[in-house]
Amino acid sequence: MADNFFLPQASLDTLFAALAKDGRRILAPTDRDGRTELNPVDKPADVAKDYLQTILSAKEAAFPKVERLMSFTTGSKSVDLVDAEPHALPTVLFGVRPCEASGFRALDAVFNWDTRDRFFNARMEALAVIGVACTRKDDACFCTSVGGGPGSTAGSDILLTPVDGGFLAEVLTEKGKAMAALAPEAFKADPGLEKKVVDVPVAFDQPGLTRRLKDRFEDGIWVEQSLRCVGCGACAYVCPTCVCFDIVEESDAKGGHRLRTWDSCGGHMFTLHASGHNPRETQAQRWRQRVYHKFSYYPERYDMLGCVGCGKCTRACPVDMNLQEHLAEAAQA
Ligand code: SF4
Ligand code: SF4
Repeated sequence: MADNFFLPQASLDTLFAALAKDGRRILAPTDRDGRTELNPVDKPADVAKDYLQTILSAKEAAFPKVERLMSFTTGSKSVDLVDAEPHALPTVLFGVRPCEASGFRALDAVFNWDTRDRFFNARMEALAVIGVACTRKDDACFCTSVGGGPGSTAGSDILLTPVDGGFLAEVLTEKGKAMAALAPEAFKADPGLEKKVVDVPVAFDQPGLTRRLKDRFEDGIWVEQSLRCVGCGACAYVCPTCVCFDIVEESDAKGGHRLRTWDSCGGHMFTLHASGHNPRETQAQRWRQRVYHKFSYYPERYDMLGCVGCGKCTRACPVDMNLQEHLAEAAQA
């Protein structure tokens, strides 16, 4: 049960100052060079105005593009291994949308599936989320079709909903309470504020889609839908729930590093075997994998979806693949 407060706009300065004084980095949407992205900020005035979403997702706070897992040095007759320590700065994600905030659950399912990933978990422990509910949307948004909503509290430690003069602040978790306790003067008694968010109509029958996928694996729909796809991987890199990674080593004669890097199942090399055989040799097979992973395999293995309906993939696609439309088509008989 949330504790509700009124957070005046002017009190955000107090909250940001208190978080900084507590040693926390604040990442928030900023407008720089024509792009809205998460960047470190010092004060509320640095936060982008009137943004819909960032282009890249918030997952990078817990699952960076590149992470060093270990280093090694090579001597004439020996190799010395040095474990890397997670670079987990105390961080507050401010202003992420409810869809993205809920996306961390899908990452957690994979990074704590068969073994606990200490890098991911260290970053998540150091992370707190102050989400901001949505008062507008675009045609790519479909959170309500996948169990979310523009005012959903899932994944946020504090959820702010814009109201006249400030925000309705729902303090949701122990992490949220700890942040609010740093600046108690910023949080005023709730005078009975109404939580008003944008209406996002349900676009397709998701349970029906998941059922339908069971007998559509060999369907020609995947070829038709993927004809435009160039396999660039942009959809995966912007996605808050895509979790594919590669492990690579960069080294010279003296030593090197083992790195974990983002990858995408949409790329033709992703499943290429050393023998030359590729079990997903066509783009249609790779597109099908993307849909099945998120809407069939995730529900089977983790009892959740691997998509939060943020629409980032649709906005980023250079050839206008529209996930919401393709899912609606696949859900039909
Ligand atoms: S962004 Fe578009 S073109 Fe690129 S891999 Fe994804 S669906 Fe294909
Ligand atoms: S698949 Fe697309 S809509 Fe779904 S979570 Fe990823 S980026 Fe968002």
